[in-house]
Amino acid sequence: PSITRGVTVEIPKVSWEDIGGLKDLKKKLQQAVEWPIKHSDAFARLGISPMRGILLHGPPGCSKTTLAKAAAHAAQASFFSLSGAELYSMYVGEGEVLLRNTFQRARLAAPSIIFFDEADVVAAKRGGSSSNSTSVGERLLSTLLTEMDGLEQAKGILVLAATNRPHAIDAALMRPGRFDLVLYVPPPDLEARYEILCVHTRNMRIGNDVDLMQIAEDTELFTGAELEGLCVEAGIVALREDISATVVSNRHFQTVKASLKPALTQAEIN
Ligand code: ATP
Repeated sequence: PSITRGVTVEIPKVSWEDIGGLKDLKKKLQQAVEWPIKHSDAFARLGISPMRGILLHGPPGCSKTTLAKAAAHAAQASFFSLSGAELYSMYVGEGEVLLRNTFQRARLAAPSIIFFDEADVVAAKRGGSSSNSTSVGERLLSTLLTEMDGLEQAKGILVLAATNRPHAIDAALMRPGRFDLVLYVPPPDLEARYEILCVHTRNMRIGNDVDLMQIAEDTELFTGAELEGLCVEAGIVALREDISATVVSNRHFQTVKASLKPALTQAEIN
């Protein structure tokens, strides 16, 4: 970790291999993030401006945050994280200050990635009947727009925003030079579920009777977060059964799976 004016900035440790599935998406993100940061000279040489913002959208628990961290790791970029909901709930004016400070710190620590979770809370469409020009959301949004436009001169800074309500995002943010790329992060399909289970049992001692492909088949609609939870819980069940257990067996996975119901519904992902 490097120190920037008293603030510890870390490059995340999570890598692309820690994310199951999403092969094409990872490739697209890799290019979109790594190129402008690692090869900014090439962009300058050709007279094209690198991307400044990427919007990731999709249901909760399907790795938007983890993808942003892996991108920062791959590009060896400092990672700054902001939450739209947190900014929104701050005292009047504080959210804007934090937003501006974060961009400032990111410039000092470049190359940097600013991850903006729950972006829709701040970047919601303007002009609704209940809002007026001085509402908290509008002021935060206009600060965000100003900061994003200011990135034109800044090198090696990229904003990755995440939302599960992409239609709520204000059109002003979707203009070229702001969020130039919009990527959907879907819930995992069979192959991805299998890979996610492999990732999260990598460091576990699992019994020979555990068939991860079978578990993947039986967990349709489970998100990555829920699959991770399933693995962790199975380990806990094994310990609860026998504190000196040496492996986590199929029956432990089955016990947990039987008690879980996915939060997503088929209708939500279609
Ligand atoms: P939210 O919208 O709720 O913020 P998110 O889409 O940002 O969710 P993450 O926070 O990245 O999701 O994922 C939650 C957890 O689930 C993480 O701890 C991560 O390890 C695990 N996870 C989710 N998807 C995957 C995946 N494809 N591979 C491995 N782990 C995953």
